[in-house]
Amino acid sequence: MAQEQVDVLILGSGPAGYTAAIYAARAGLKPLMYQGGQPGGQLTITTDVENFPGYPDGIQGPEMMEDFRKQAERFGLDNRYGMATKVDFSTPGAHKVTIDDNIEITAKTVIIATGASAKWLGLESEQRLNGYGVSACAVCDGFFFRKQDVAIVGAGDTACEEAHYLSKLCNKVYMLVRRDEFRASQIMQNRVKNTPNIEILFNTETLEILGEDGVTGARLKNTKTNEESTIDVTGFFVAIGHQPNTQIFADYLTLDEAGYIETEKGSSRTNIEGVFACGDAQDKIYRQAVTAAGSGCMAALDAERYLAAQGLH
Ligand code: NDP
Repeated sequence: MAQEQVDVLILGSGPAGYTAAIYAARAGLKPLMYQGGQPGGQLTITTDVENFPGYPDGIQGPEMMEDFRKQAERFGLDNRYGMATKVDFSTPGAHKVTIDDNIEITAKTVIIATGASAKWLGLESEQRLNGYGVSACAVCDGFFFRKQDVAIVGAGDTACEEAHYLSKLCNKVYMLVRRDEFRASQIMQNRVKNTPNIEILFNTETLEILGEDGVTGARLKNTKTNEESTIDVTGFFVAIGHQPNTQIFADYLTLDEAGYIETEKGSSRTNIEGVFACGDAQDKIYRQAVTAAGSGCMAALDAERYLAAQGLH
């Protein structure tokens, strides 16, 4: 297996990873980044970003991530495709990360910015029709279903927000809620309940998404009566939360019950010396590009200070 040694290894290439890279590169730490499974992160599957300061007219998510990339590379980021497949954080100052099972990086510091991924229902039909009418991002894909009937699964704030967003574009929105109540905050529930073209189906489970080359409907089951029914929809949205991409760190890092990396309050430090976490991998509350970027900055500064304090750089 090929071996390399670096001062700062950054895993993940969303706003957190790239901001960490900009700070680490400008500090002369010659960071190495592996971009992970979704280069550019979750923003590459969104459209308009209107809440990132510095873009008064808004910007497309993928374009913004290109800007992040160029800015980091301008300062010398060594930026590579690849996915961390194994870690060994047992030796402070010489943490080992295996990339794609064929290269082993020994890093004095590791910055984890691996983000989070949308959760799916786990149906075969959902996987087969993903991108062909099935989506986990109403804001990205709602536009394709203008004036049509769609369904959205979920009962949290995200599902309510997205159902409301879809209601403005689509003819009708079925909201499929698995229990007899929402999880979302009252204000978001009220917004959904007060929107005439959203029909909420409580106690409803999706058995199958129907369609061959595109979505034509969904087969549902009422969990109280066991009665099955079918709705005709051309778009099927899933908004049932996110899963942090942290599983490979579980043997070493302290994770919370949902799998998010725990960091020391007010810092990016994890329970392992020299390993720092930022972005959505450690934040289930704010989950914004700008907060992820801010935490990426913190991680780079923490890594730099750690290296200086240990006399490692
Ligand atoms: P949540 O974890 O809060 O909600 C997930 C929802 O999906 C729950 O209602 C859950 O049902 C449902 N669900 C999970 N698995 C399934 C399944 N297999 N089938 C059907 N339904 C399922 O995730 P969110 O993404 O909504 O929110 C995450 C965090 O972000 C929350 O803290 C939220 O408050 C916050 N947020 C705030 C916003 C705002 O304030 N504007 C906007 C967006 C997010 P059940 O309830 O039965 O468990």
